[in-house]
Amino acid sequence: AERIDIDGVSVSPDHFIGNRRVSSPRTFETRCPFDWDRKLADVALGDADTAKQAVAAATEAFPAWAALSAKERAAYLNRLSDLIEENKEKLALVECLDMAMLLESLQLRVISRAALNFRNYADLAVEHEERVWSSKGTLNRVIRMPAGPALIITPWNAPFMLSTWKCAPALAAGNTVILKPAEWSPLSASMLGDLIDEAGFPPGVFNIVQGGAEIGNALTSDPGIKRISFTGSVPTARVIGRNAAENIVPFTAELGGKSALLVFEDADIDAAAKKAAGQYDDSGQVCMAGSRVIVQESVKDEFLERFNHYADQHVLGDSMDPATTVSAMIHPTHVERVLGFIERARERGDEIVRGGKRWKEGQNWVEPTLIMPRDNNSEVVQSEIFGPVLTFQTFASEEDGVALANSTQYGLSGIVYTGNAERAERVGRQVRGGTVWVNTFLVRDLTAPFGGIGISGIGREGGDYALDFHSDLKTLQILEQ
Ligand code: ADP
Repeated sequence: AERIDIDGVSVSPDHFIGNRRVSSPRTFETRCPFDWDRKLADVALGDADTAKQAVAAATEAFPAWAALSAKERAAYLNRLSDLIEENKEKLALVECLDMAMLLESLQLRVISRAALNFRNYADLAVEHEERVWSSKGTLNRVIRMPAGPALIITPWNAPFMLSTWKCAPALAAGNTVILKPAEWSPLSASMLGDLIDEAGFPPGVFNIVQGGAEIGNALTSDPGIKRISFTGSVPTARVIGRNAAENIVPFTAELGGKSALLVFEDADIDAAAKKAAGQYDDSGQVCMAGSRVIVQESVKDEFLERFNHYADQHVLGDSMDPATTVSAMIHPTHVERVLGFIERARERGDEIVRGGKRWKEGQNWVEPTLIMPRDNNSEVVQSEIFGPVLTFQTFASEEDGVALANSTQYGLSGIVYTGNAERAERVGRQVRGGTVWVNTFLVRDLTAPFGGIGISGIGREGGDYALDFHSDLKTLQILEQ
């Protein structure tokens, strides 16, 4: 299909397979979350046939790509990284229009971090290519063998960052890639297709297909796929896991969370309250969000006073406007879902102490909402809402605070505020989560492992952990002469 012009940026609505644009008989719409009347594109809707083509391209390209050294592959990844930097403004604009992430944060941070993913893995794959040592009279080598075509399935909430975060290690490890972004925000991934071509990747090494469950099922059940890396919801992970089991294919799944933001009386209360109010950024559509605010009783009033002060400063609005701090939510369906959580909480007698409604009729914002649940069994405490909705609970002792923090089935992350170094260490170890921050949030070294515990997921990505996942490790032992 014809390329489309989005505010001066040319974007293809088609799949990208074997370095060529491929259309589909059916399409789906993508719209601008903060200007819902604005249709951005009719995007090619992939099906089983598209899946077959993509797997064939990735399979054909695999042997030559796998045969390159880590250093040779690194050159491609570094070129792609440079091109992402060069096209930062365009990528930021389209991602902002398609997903409503704040333009300024995309321009200042997000796109550059995405570029860094390729640069990091270019280096990491060289650094971790082989391990060699002598023992028991043999020379031991651990060799990383590329596994084959890898399928990467990403969610709508951080499309460009997550696509690059998950594709880079697969490519660096010598796998060919099929990326399937989510239906609600597919456009930045499509732009990546142009850059892959421009970076000179051999055809079939890095493919991008669009669509939802139909092509998703076809891809995850295709025996040609040798790794699956997924970020999304628990129900989808179960389907993918079943398909992966059928083919005995390893998969990782990062499935969101219901993370605690635990505040002790010895903490810098102002800093903690500011960070808690910051959980409304991106309308709370952040898997790592500390959406359960849990504060020691003795500082409850002080905390709430500071929290309200910061929450009052939020500006809901257009994501292109630098004054905006709370972006629109992705889709009316998601808005309805979030409002449903609030309504059911109200019905069971939870106290809505802030917000609780749609901001403006017919638009995609929900007011930043704070709920004091009647008890810990409330659905708003136990289920991921993925919206601008925080719960507020209190505790008496450290032990009770930790118990409350660990009282859901999730375990993606945790945030702890304390002024006591020993408590920081002790509680940091006790809070259930793949990542726990103390007195800060979201600062992440992209080489550290990331992933969830419990229903927050399986496996770890980041650093050489992702390289391990994307490789078949071989131990080669040769008797020394
Ligand atoms: P979310 O709640 O984030 O929308 P989903 O799990 O529905 O979570 O979506 C995450 C990703 O999984 C999206 O790219 C979506 O298209 C994809 N997906 C949805 N259903 C399937 C499926 N049956 N098989 C593979 N991928 C799927």
